[in-house]
Order: sequence, then C-alpha cells, then structure tokens
Amino acid sequence: MIISDCHMHTTYSTDGHSDMESMINASIKKGLKSICFTEHNDHGAGFFEGGTFVVDTDEYYEGYVRLSEKYSEEIEVLFGIEIGLMEKEKAFFEDYVEKYPFDFVIGSSHTAGVYDPYFPEYYTRFDTTEEAYRYYFASELKRAELFECYDSYGHLDYALRYGPGKNSDFTYEKYADLLDPLLSAIIKKGKVIEINSSGFKAGMNGPNPAVSIIKRYRELGGLPPTIGSDAHETAFIAYEFEAVEQILRETGYNSYSIFRKRERAEIII
Ligand SMILES: [Zn+2]
Ligand SMILES: [Zn+2]
Repeated sequence: MIISDCHMHTTYSTDGHSDMESMINASIKKGLKSICFTEHNDHGAGFFEGGTFVVDTDEYYEGYVRLSEKYSEEIEVLFGIEIGLMEKEKAFFEDYVEKYPFDFVIGSSHTAGVYDPYFPEYYTRFDTTEEAYRYYFASELKRAELFECYDSYGHLDYALRYGPGKNSDFTYEKYADLLDPLLSAIIKKGKVIEINSSGFKAGMNGPNPAVSIIKRYRELGGLPPTIGSDAHETAFIAYEFEAVEQILRETGYNSYSIFRKRERAEIII
C-alpha cells in the first residue's frame, strides 16, 4: 500500500484551491502516514494567468512549521518545493534550495526552452505534435545534464498532457533516442523520477510519465520513484494510488522513495 503522497499544492501556490490545514486533515482521513507539500517556484518563467507561480517561501515555511507540529501525532508532514527547471535559473535555484530546510525538491519542466507547452500556441510552432514533444524531451535532457539541485524529476512527460491528441500516439520507441539519454542522465546523477498520478485525471489513462517510460527507467537501473498526486485540492489527494501501486509492481518495484532532509528512504509497498 502507498501511504505517502509526496507532491501536493495548497493555497500558498498560485493555482492551489485548498488551504494547508484542509489538505492535512483530508490526508489523515485518507489514511496517509506521510505527506510532502511541494508548492510552486517557477522563478524566471514570467507571469501567467493567475500569477507568477513563485511561492512566498517565508510565509509558506511559517505555515508549515505551525501545522506540521500541530498534527505531528497524526501524520508526518514534510516540507518540499517544486522548482521549474530552466537553464538560466540554475544559479538562482542552487542558492534557493540551500536557503530553506527543504525535505524534498521536485525538479519539473513546466517549460521547453522558453516556451510553455501548457498553451495550445506551443504546438503551432512545430509542424507535427511529435516534433513538439521531441523539443520538450530534448529540453528536459539538457536540464537533466545541467541541474543537481533537485531530488526527483517531476512528471517527466508533462507535455503529453496538453498536446493535440495527448498521449494517443505516444510510444517509447518513437522517442527512445531522447528518452534513453534523459533517463540515464537522471540515474547517473543519483536522482529519481516521480510517478505523478494526476495524468489519470488529465485524460491520459495513466500516470505521468507513461508506464513504458517507468519500465525503461527500471531497466536502466533507476532507483524506486517518488509518488505524488499533484493534488491542488483535497479531492485529489492520493488519487488513483491503487493503480500506481499496480504499476510499481508491474515495472519490477516493491518499494518507492520518499525524502527527508534531502535524504532518500525506501518504503515497501
Ligand atoms: Zn508540475
Ligand atoms: Zn505540482
């Protein structure tokens, strides 16, 4: 059984809908033993509809300390962050992750180069959706080679959520020339990948990344992934975790990873 959810947002994030205390209470109700908040810091990515996606980390930490202590008898609450990887922000984030006592840092590519695959215009830059996805994976590869200051690579095939047709034409083989070196770079640096269950609700019929990517990651020697729902509201905490447990087993894992004080531990399923 998966008893930890290590990717969650609250109203401290620009797009969070439930406050931290509601998220903690809902997690206890769901039977989780450990959760990690991972608010957004997309420093340098610019202004989007709704705000800048840069958490006020001091305010976030204050709230975290107060509530993690209040509920410490009932659940372990960890202090994490989801940073938006961009080449030009490397120095900023190296400094930033040392400035706060984070338990866990997710590195995510919410952009490809300087473009945002969340918006339909991203795909119109390319002749085919395949090219648009290739550009995204190539950008992730560059970042996996460049960045050290994270623990788990978030939702590795994120762009597939938003492209025309989503993941319907996706096969590992089509992108293996980019995905193999991407996974190898992550593994070589001692990092892990995340299984992000929000893909199930994004109409992908599976997590991010796709099961074929997780399988290959395992073949290449990848350590047990971290698991997160990426819930932005209480309803999606631990979303489809039974399916994720099944995927872990199918891909040859009997445990998953969690991070405390940036140190990896394994929890048997
Ligand atoms: Zn994300
Ligand atoms: Zn997230």
